[in-house]
Amino acid sequence: MAETMLKHPETKNYVGGKFLSTAGKRTMEVITPLTGDVISNVILSGKEELDQAVAAAKAAFPGWSSTPIKERVQVFFRYKTLLERELKNLAALVREENGKILDEAIAEVEKSIELTEFACSMPQLVSGELLEVSKGVECRIEHKPLGVVASIAPFNFPHMVPHWTIPNALALGNCMILKPSELVPVSSQRIAEMLKEAGLPDGVFNIVNGDREIVEAMCDHPEIQAVSFVGSTKVAKIVYQRATANLKRCTALGGAKNHLIVMPDAHPEMTATNVAASMSGCAGQRCMAASAMVAVGEIDDMVRRICDESKKIVPGKNLGSVISRAAKERIERYINEAEKAGAKVLVDGRNCVVEGHESGYYVGPTVIDYVTPDMAIAKEEVFGPVLAIIRAKNLDEALSIENNSNYGNAASVFTQSGGVARQVMERASAGMIGVNVGVPVPREPFSFGGWNESKFGVNDITGKSSIEFWTMLKKTTIKWNPESRTNWMS
Ligand code: NAD
Repeated sequence: MAETMLKHPETKNYVGGKFLSTAGKRTMEVITPLTGDVISNVILSGKEELDQAVAAAKAAFPGWSSTPIKERVQVFFRYKTLLERELKNLAALVREENGKILDEAIAEVEKSIELTEFACSMPQLVSGELLEVSKGVECRIEHKPLGVVASIAPFNFPHMVPHWTIPNALALGNCMILKPSELVPVSSQRIAEMLKEAGLPDGVFNIVNGDREIVEAMCDHPEIQAVSFVGSTKVAKIVYQRATANLKRCTALGGAKNHLIVMPDAHPEMTATNVAASMSGCAGQRCMAASAMVAVGEIDDMVRRICDESKKIVPGKNLGSVISRAAKERIERYINEAEKAGAKVLVDGRNCVVEGHESGYYVGPTVIDYVTPDMAIAKEEVFGPVLAIIRAKNLDEALSIENNSNYGNAASVFTQSGGVARQVMERASAGMIGVNVGVPVPREPFSFGGWNESKFGVNDITGKSSIEFWTMLKKTTIKWNPESRTNWMS
């Protein structure tokens, strides 16, 4: 499909069903990392804009929350059809503002469709419980929405991450204020337009754009009941501490350093292609990317195969750009420092230039061997198409390297031994485990969420776990018939 380079002069706030003028407001340029060109200007909101959005959401809440859930989800059945209709245009927009390749952008929007599909099944999942607990006396439990809730998103999935929260939170009767990443705010404008087209009442979904200032205002706002956050660990900690200090519920997903443990008996072709794809997919800018490979035992042939696979990944063709010049510089700094510390760069993606996109921010696939666990590249999140190989003598040593990470989003093992796989499933300190799977993202209805410093808060962000986050339980005890004989509930 031909590349669409759209121009979006203004990225606005969306409040009460209307896009608001940005005239006279603080704005920031939105740059496409494909070419370094400015494609939009996004408003950087403050407390005043947030108050407007909260007022709109609050006004919409009584009507929306009292609409039966079977009616509420009809909006999402229609919305899913619209997403399917617009799939390619939405993907082109994701590519334009984020820089990933079109196939990855299509897969991203397809995941938004799957998440919407899950929300459509919400009536089946929250039908409540009822029991006659004593003669003539019933107890029942219902899930009730919280009210006005907030969702804060990162840059790496401009369409999918907002869908981790929007369909479920809204289907369950909440009214939401979304804060997209200021680096990729344009896709969310289409989300607002399409939800409206699907019949969502005005005020149920709102957008405030901005940066740190608006996030802090969201954590502080007394009328916001819950904050869902996805981003780096540094900011996840700030948001979690600030939102909970203000007595809100909060789930804050942070960064990652995912380990792939590759055993000597791993299937050669499958492992090599999976590891290379996991490391380079979305230019390594996904919290489920393989970042550190722990190579166990005699495994030089596998390392050679992984290098061969990595060399087939061509920037600008099947590898997208990274998000910014600063990101490119950070990634290359990690590679330089590892090399200086004694690691061996086997495939080198530094100083990458793509013909026709000379000012784009590209880093080629990079494989670095003989990384040691004390190096920064082994411990910190690089967020680029870089694989750091750490050698280990045996499975115990490999697991101890994995267990020592502060993060805990994902861990995978490549092996043909059920016993080894079982040990990694048991002993890896991560929320999402893969067995011969390089990117072990759970599909709906299984929930998404890491451990350790990759997630703060109790619930996962998607799946059934999100139901507990977006609702509170109402417990009612009922007795209607005075004729029933006296008992302990009387
Ligand atoms: P980021 O933390 O810089 O930004 C995330 C959001 O926080 C943005 O909306 C941003 O405007 C806001 N923000 C930034 N600095 C802030 C501050 N000081 N105070 C308050 N708000 C602030 O993250 P990013 O660079 O947009 O995204 C990449 C990060 O997100 C990576 O670390 C990646 O691993 C992580 N991520 C995690 C998951 C997960 O599921 N755990 C999923 C996607 C991305």
